[in-house]
Amino acid sequence: MSKRIGILALQGDFEAHRKALERAGAEAVEVRTAARLEEIDGLVIPGGESTTMLIILKDENMLEPLRRFGERRPIFGTCAGAILLASEVLNPSQESLRLMDLAIERNAYGRQVDSRVVKLEETPEFACECGGGDVEAVFIRAPIIRRVGPDTTVYLRYNGDPVLVRQGRHLAATFHPELTSDPRIHRLFLDTIKV
Ligand code: GLN
Repeated sequence: MSKRIGILALQGDFEAHRKALERAGAEAVEVRTAARLEEIDGLVIPGGESTTMLIILKDENMLEPLRRFGERRPIFGTCAGAILLASEVLNPSQESLRLMDLAIERNAYGRQVDSRVVKLEETPEFACECGGGDVEAVFIRAPIIRRVGPDTTVYLRYNGDPVLVRQGRHLAATFHPELTSDPRIHRLFLDTIKV
């Protein structure tokens, strides 16, 4: 049976994640209500604008249900989604789900170069779990992870900073793995999900 993964579809680039999840072998469904969280094995929080997502989550009474979901099920946050997962948000400080022990700084590459495609540095953990080989990443007004907790696995780095990390059941990427055709990152997320 394929895994049923929700994509938080309130704002941001959820459509590209649907295709990436399907390419990696999962069934993808869009999530716009707290009730829908009951029907899925894991959730992707896509990129977009974390501040706007927070406002919508509060308006829809979804912030607490999402936090409770994350206490029992895996979440993969990309870019704005990673910001929402972090325990500490900088530049400026803002509320978050606090499901991962990490500090993340929004829009940390500055205004001059908003977006870029780069090659990432792999760690041995990535080579071991994902098979190694070059990884290209798209960054769009990306945050930088400034601190990770002691129980964090770092899979990929850029300029020495962690850009793909796992802590417990959750995965966070500061780039957009749904915008390249490489299925390894979504597979890494799917592999953590037990159904
Ligand atoms: N700059 C956005 C934020 O701070 C994140 C950008 C993205 O998700 N591509 O929420």
